[in-house]
Amino acid sequence: EAASSTNEKFSIYSHEIDPYNARRISLLGELRNAIEKDALQLYFQPQICLDTMQVSGAEVLIRWIHPEYGFIPPDEFIPLAERTGVIHPLTYWICRKAFEFKHSLDSQGYNINLSINISARNLQDPHFKEQVCKMAAENKVQLNKIIMELTETAVMYDPEDALRIMNDLSEAGIRLSIDDFGTGYSSLSYLKRLPVDEIKIDRSFVMEMAKNNDDQVIVNTTLMMGHNLSLEVVAEGVEDEATLYKLKDMGCDLAQGYHIARPMPSHDFFTWISGYRAHQRPQAVIKGV
Ligand code: C2E
Ligand code: MG
Ligand code: MG
Ligand code: MG
Repeated sequence: EAASSTNEKFSIYSHEIDPYNARRISLLGELRNAIEKDALQLYFQPQICLDTMQVSGAEVLIRWIHPEYGFIPPDEFIPLAERTGVIHPLTYWICRKAFEFKHSLDSQGYNINLSINISARNLQDPHFKEQVCKMAAENKVQLNKIIMELTETAVMYDPEDALRIMNDLSEAGIRLSIDDFGTGYSSLSYLKRLPVDEIKIDRSFVMEMAKNNDDQVIVNTTLMMGHNLSLEVVAEGVEDEATLYKLKDMGCDLAQGYHIARPMPSHDFFTWISGYRAHQRPQAVIKGV
């Protein structure tokens, strides 16, 4: 998907003439610093429960606003972090900030779920569960309100290690979700063996679902399969009202997308959630990147 196509785009250029290569090298050097200097920011995108239309949670999405390059998409720097090992301090930083946000949500009476994206490399870190549990406890965060999102590719990268760490996380009470479902290595028999609670149907199937019958068939089939395996199903990339209500009629559990709200910094998220009224149709875009 997006991350891998970015890499492919890089590889067809000659290294000498590719300006992005210089950028890539400079970003690599700066990432560690950026973590320490708070140049990275977390944005939060709401998810709603389609049955009640209430806000059920938020996904944590990282942003890097670079002094020279401006906005750098996570699809560009997360793969760099993964290749260099910086993903370890980065994911710990993300979890700590996310738990602080969760703590402030709880203290303002919004006891919603928080979904955090996790990389393949985190599933090889033998201290991951212990560190995450420690940081959660420091912020009085209930682990059953935390969902960790993994892609199928991340799980397949090293299935044995992944399964071990996923079992550890699951036993600790953390919920697990398969992100971008349908774009990766969809081995259904393997999925059955994973301690997974949720699947997120990739936005490429959802975005044009209202107009595209094939997409609708894929979404519906995935939904039925997920429910038959007792999984919660999230649709990401809900960009219009027709899609939102179609998903609701199909019995999809949760929805996330620009039509509901864009990812927002924490302050805007609080403004958004305090103004959200479930009996109305969801408000469109407020602000965000
Ligand atoms: P993802 O986890 O699948 O995240 C969903 C992406 O879809 C986000 O892009 C979000 O901004 C975007 N999105 C949400 N609603 C809509 C919509 O209605 N239409 C469209 N077209 N897009 C929508 P973003 O924030 O650029 O993140 C891209 C990817 O980067 C994420 O995909 C995830 O794989 C990775 N990523 C983001 N934050 C983190 C992080 O904190 N840690 C790790 N390891 N990866 C992250
Ligand atoms: Mg995700
Ligand atoms: Mg996704
Ligand atoms: Mg993705």
